[in-house]
Amino acid sequence: MKYLNLYLKNTSLEKQSAAAIAYLASIDHISVNSPKIAESIVNEIKAQRSQLKLIASENYSSLSVQLAMGNLLTDKYAEGYAKHRFYAGCEQVDVCEQTAVDEVKSIFGCDHAYVQPHSGADANIVAFWSIIINKIQNKRLEQLGKKIDLLSNSEYEELRQYLVNCKVMGMSLDAGGHLTHGFRHNISSKMMQASSYSIDPKTEMLDYDEIAKKAKEFKPDILLAGYSAYSRRINFAKMREIADSVGATLMVDMAHFSGLVAGKVFKGEESPISYAQMITSTTHKTLRGPRGGLILCDQEFAETVNKGCPLVLGGPLPHVMAAKAIAFQEANTLAFQDYSKKVVDNSRALAEIFLKEDLHVLSGGTDNHMFVLDVSSFGITGRQAEDALLDCGICLNRNAILNDKNGAWYTSGVRIGTPALTSLGVGVDQMRDLGNIMLKILKHTKASFNTKTQSKNKARYELDANIKRNCKEQVIDLLKDFPLYPEITLQ
Ligand code: PLP
Repeated sequence: MKYLNLYLKNTSLEKQSAAAIAYLASIDHISVNSPKIAESIVNEIKAQRSQLKLIASENYSSLSVQLAMGNLLTDKYAEGYAKHRFYAGCEQVDVCEQTAVDEVKSIFGCDHAYVQPHSGADANIVAFWSIIINKIQNKRLEQLGKKIDLLSNSEYEELRQYLVNCKVMGMSLDAGGHLTHGFRHNISSKMMQASSYSIDPKTEMLDYDEIAKKAKEFKPDILLAGYSAYSRRINFAKMREIADSVGATLMVDMAHFSGLVAGKVFKGEESPISYAQMITSTTHKTLRGPRGGLILCDQEFAETVNKGCPLVLGGPLPHVMAAKAIAFQEANTLAFQDYSKKVVDNSRALAEIFLKEDLHVLSGGTDNHMFVLDVSSFGITGRQAEDALLDCGICLNRNAILNDKNGAWYTSGVRIGTPALTSLGVGVDQMRDLGNIMLKILKHTKASFNTKTQSKNKARYELDANIKRNCKEQVIDLLKDFPLYPEITLQ
């Protein structure tokens, strides 16, 4: 009981927290038989405490969310959905799943919710297939006047050919879209014919006329909106208009910005809720829940979406659904609305520091929780910027920009996001300080020269030791005021 005993010894009774005791006791318990795993959990806490996290897709979930996942709910099979199970003894799983469903419906005010997807990618595949089954399979079965199980093998094969001939159109990967939106190395482009729309090369923003033109030419069954690296808001009313004009279903993947919709920062036409027929999301980014996915949809898709398992998914994860229920309760509060607003204020304040230096921030700024900074004017790649910043205690990831001359591995940009630091309480003043530290690091980072090839190295870099030490100290100073899970003490 190393960690728990230390905690009880060093923390006065009034300051002791049940969450800290549970957390430390679980680490002590794990270490009895699996010391290596216990040590890696402790080391992860230490590592995250030593870095300022600017990874746009990550956050810090609450200890309640984390603790809800560490229990016997994981042992249950619960195929089906609440009150409609193919397994016995699911009464308590029903409570967890139904609470999550009710809570997420209350946040977003949507017709139907499904909280089983194990991740955002899984949610997208369930959503794609729900649309395809509703639009194509069910219509064909109606024409044939038969249920699917009664089709002959040749009739089923004929139907299958219809199913794999659907078309999806989403934002291209290099403009900021996601791999699951029709990228050639993802199943989405193998099960459907995929085409993409990009951003205007000048403004680096979505051009709705251009999207409408492309949609008319390609005639997608699914028009997909949503992004992983785009710093402006989307007008979903316009996207719905385009979808309707070509008979497509509007699907929105709000994996990145669902927390900003929940927090009422994105409202009206900037929120997909009243415009999209199908919405997917992760639960662990701006929404600040456990790692997982969810689907919100119009009533017409409810039945198919509820059959996500076995359509696409394996058995649901009851422990994660319990944690989702808690996270949704947390997101359904005024405090979360305040948090979401601060996420965007912080993002704007940080982007401003780079814009003031005339640096290339993609799309010219940000209206959401992130932005992409082009680092090529410093003479370095995104990879070198990522490594140099990490060496000074700032954790973010490199990101390709449109027509990136350095390709998807080295890249020319870095993606910068504020959800995690805002969760720690960091405000705009500290964000500006952090921006200036980052600027100093980037200005003093140089690509190493490869004498053999007589060219600049794309991976290795040099950073003046004094600058590095000084910036690292500044990062440590900033971190001191914003401790991660302060109730958990490891000494
Ligand atoms: N959709 C978007 C827009 C994303 O940004 C991501 C993750 O980065 C996903 C889907 C996939 O989420 P997951 O990693 O949970 O599968």
